[in-house]
Amino acid sequence: MATITEVLEKYRDHLNPGFAKLLDFMGFGVVEHRAAGCRVWDEDGQEYLDFLGGFGVFSLGHNPPEVAAAVREQLALMPMSTRLMLSRQQADLADLLAEITPGDLQHVFFCNSGAEAVEGALKLVRLWFHQRGEERPKFVSAKESFHGKTLGSLSVSGRDKYRLPFAPLLPEVAHVPFGDAEALAAAVDERTAAVVLEPVQGEAGAIVPPDGYLTAARAACDRVGAKLILDEVQTGFGRTGYLFAAERDGVAPDVMCLAKALGGGVMPLGAFIATPELWQPMVGEPLLHTSTWGGNPLACAAGLAAVRSILDQNLAARAADLGERLLRGLHELAAKHPTLIRSVRGRGLLIGVEFHSEDVGSLTIAKLAQKRLLIAFALNKPEVMRLEPPLIVTAEEIDWVLGALAEALDETAELVAMLTGED
Ligand code: PLP
Repeated sequence: MATITEVLEKYRDHLNPGFAKLLDFMGFGVVEHRAAGCRVWDEDGQEYLDFLGGFGVFSLGHNPPEVAAAVREQLALMPMSTRLMLSRQQADLADLLAEITPGDLQHVFFCNSGAEAVEGALKLVRLWFHQRGEERPKFVSAKESFHGKTLGSLSVSGRDKYRLPFAPLLPEVAHVPFGDAEALAAAVDERTAAVVLEPVQGEAGAIVPPDGYLTAARAACDRVGAKLILDEVQTGFGRTGYLFAAERDGVAPDVMCLAKALGGGVMPLGAFIATPELWQPMVGEPLLHTSTWGGNPLACAAGLAAVRSILDQNLAARAADLGERLLRGLHELAAKHPTLIRSVRGRGLLIGVEFHSEDVGSLTIAKLAQKRLLIAFALNKPEVMRLEPPLIVTAEEIDWVLGALAEALDETAELVAMLTGED
């Protein structure tokens, strides 16, 4: 087996050495080797508890046997599609998604990632207005939002750090403060094609909007005939304690974007699902938007097994229960360490702990890494540590993490006191 030095040398010479350094800085400068359930082992045989869950990918845990078996079965039959014949796997999965998603979402396009799902949703809305001869160049999305890093999905994402180096992006994207229904309504006008929102913001640091926000967003769209795109790439399939986070407000979008947990942590799989009305232009022009790998049999077999398993195990209810337990414990720790922790929030098992500074957050994460807990900061809000374990996590594992965090916070507090000369 290659030593870690050999792997690092290959990162230096052929991948991005800066990324390897970042992982090392976060305390994860080791080589991953195998994984099962909530546990991951590195090449030295060290065991880790995964509380990042692949940013929402591993809702069923790592390598869930029911998904792996479905993929193995499909692998033996036909891994990839001819693209010239019908696919039973796509048809079955689209049928299931249409059944479980809110409102009148019926028609699915399968792709390979979250960014592609958002990209496709933006294009679908553009196509719909184009066919009606209406000029609607504008999109409205939220500040600090994360929708992916392709040019289109990046355009509606809300963090300048990732956007500005790639300008010019899509023109006429208005970014409004998330959760502010009035600001959203003010930004939506007759030139707006769609509003794009995460129902709960993930990479912004687990930001839960006020109740009624999505209802207000729906109303703002309806007022001017704009479309509502909900990005449930991270929140979908039980993560927030609802099968889809939008269910809490009882809101149905015109398009919903899905990925991450959809592939069961075994295959990459994304999708967008739209209403029959919005889908109509695609029927006459079925080759306008295509993908070589999107909806391949292996990925759809994984998706079918994954979604069925999430439903069978009622993981949404589990996320709601265990999320409450975790939040309660985190609030207690925040009360004990008000100088370190600014706030704790989240919904279900999508939870953020915001520190007063990025440094304190990094220190605490590094201490947790030493205790072999896989955990990370939020991409668009580095002072927030996000907790997003597999939804199959146990109450005992949550309590263990709360204990480990209590120790890490005590150690961080001691270090901060030493550095600042306070007691
Ligand atoms: N949308 C949301 C809400 C996400 O959280 C992410 C990824 O974190 C994406 C889109 C992009 O997904 P991908 O990295 O698969 O392109």
